[in-house]
Amino acid sequence: MTNPPNIAEQLCLLRENYAQQLPAKLAQLEGAFRRHDNVVELPQLRHLAHSLAGSGATFGYPALSIAARQLETIVDGALNDGRPLSLEESDSIARLIEALDRGARTPIAPSSVPALPPSTVPEAERKLIYLVEDDASLATDLMLQLGHFGYTVKIFETPKQLLETPVDPLLAVVLMDIVFPQGDLAGPEAIIQLSIAKQLRTPVIFFSFRNDLTARLAAARAGGAAYLVKPIDVGTLIGRLDDLISDLPPEPYRVLIVDDNGPLATHHAFTLQSAGISTDIVTDPMTILAHLDDFKPDLVLMDMYMPKCTGSELAAVIRQLDNYVLVPIVYLSTESDTDRRLIAMQLGADDFLTKPIMPEHLISAVSTRLRRYRVLRSHIEQDSLTGLLNHAATKDRLTTETARATRQQRVFCLAALDLDNFKNVNDTYGHLIGDSVLKNLAELLKRRLRRTDIVGRIGGEEFVVILPDTNAKQAFGLLNELREAFSLVHQRASRGLTFTTTFSCGIAQYQLGASANDVHLHADEALYRAKQAGRNQVTLADDDERQDSY
Ligand code: GH3
Ligand code: MG
Ligand code: MG
Repeated sequence: MTNPPNIAEQLCLLRENYAQQLPAKLAQLEGAFRRHDNVVELPQLRHLAHSLAGSGATFGYPALSIAARQLETIVDGALNDGRPLSLEESDSIARLIEALDRGARTPIAPSSVPALPPSTVPEAERKLIYLVEDDASLATDLMLQLGHFGYTVKIFETPKQLLETPVDPLLAVVLMDIVFPQGDLAGPEAIIQLSIAKQLRTPVIFFSFRNDLTARLAAARAGGAAYLVKPIDVGTLIGRLDDLISDLPPEPYRVLIVDDNGPLATHHAFTLQSAGISTDIVTDPMTILAHLDDFKPDLVLMDMYMPKCTGSELAAVIRQLDNYVLVPIVYLSTESDTDRRLIAMQLGADDFLTKPIMPEHLISAVSTRLRRYRVLRSHIEQDSLTGLLNHAATKDRLTTETARATRQQRVFCLAALDLDNFKNVNDTYGHLIGDSVLKNLAELLKRRLRRTDIVGRIGGEEFVVILPDTNAKQAFGLLNELREAFSLVHQRASRGLTFTTTFSCGIAQYQLGASANDVHLHADEALYRAKQAGRNQVTLADDDERQDSY
């Protein structure tokens, strides 16, 4: 679900709908109360009160929420004791119903929803780099190298040229040399000029053959984000670029909202979307498994009381799933009884927010937990050398993707990559250089693939890419391009020496009914054939080669 065009308008509509339905709901509640001598009606009365208590304040009726909550508590007491309502209780309820009617006539103005953050150019498009360097051959070489990683480079020969050019809105980073014919510190001086004129807001990386304090100090004073000494190692540079650029909005957080009250769920969804969070809604708890697989939430916002099963029961089910052992589950409920809250938490939830909740509070409570969860998950799932998914996490993703493809009759491809003669690289240049080759390949894959693609390092020099909604032919084209690009990257050895290296790749397309293991096996077989056929090539699994219908 993406951001709707106008959240304020949508919220307004929800309020109007709610207001329209309110008289009917109150009439229903009064009806249930009139028949309360019939004990069968009591749960229905409690349910109606519960639902009004949870939703009233959200849609502008705080007094209604309070009265409904008190009513619910009274009915709850009788139900827990397994007895009908006492006369005293009936009187209180009659008074509370009057309070409900009054509350329903006096809505308050909606609390404002925070405005959408100003739209920034998506990260994926911000790959323009300004390179200011007077050595033309070095500049061209860097441009080509960065090009392999998906960056577009515009070269300026002098700082003066940069000063005279209007800054492109797509600019992500400036790479600035220090020494120019115009002066030994001409680079940093130009950057200072640009920032005084407020023309530059992007980070600057300085680089130079100079490694003395004067040059480094000048770079620091000009606000340099990094300082690299020539000769530049492309892997290191890409690492820095990644650090700098990836603090732009990352993949949006995903929150799954489970609530049988559709309008209330939608209201919370809009609130979270206004903060740039993606949402998905489950109103029928029995469908939650499919939503987990498809939406892959970073957090579940869970109602406590729903028909068919409770929030705590669902939380316990979520904790049974390997992929969701850690996902934060936050209850959003009118439950105020501390004992019941504690019991609910023991079943696997992380926190309890109380309905009704102010939009800002919901956003802030959810965001904090989302951030922490992403960091935690990355520590557990990432391979420390490359930052890609590790073996276990990759296998999990493959299992999930297979389940999704089976259920939705979709296609995906698995590519298995293995560096060619990598033992030779280690033997010739040393293990550390071998490590930097692994990092370079990881960077290339991360940079050049889609957000939805899954990249993992599953062994020493073995990588895996999962390409959702991609057929064998498309996957072949893509991986072949990557193979070519990687073979052109200058890997840096010691003493300024460079060398190139390659990988082989096998691709298998998921066939309906296959298991995750089958797909992996087929990709491995294809990889084996690529190696047999001389390495540095991409091979399709047998089945996929014959079938050209996609
Ligand atoms: P082939 O083309 O058949 O794949 O030949 P290869 O030499 O790449 O394959 P082989 O499986 O014989 O050797 C893999 C080498 O990868 C052996 C090991 O030293 C190296 N390797 C595995 N993990 C790492 C690592 O984390 N860092 C480094 N530098 N090397 C690693
Ligand atoms: Mg190998
Ligand atoms: Mg190997």
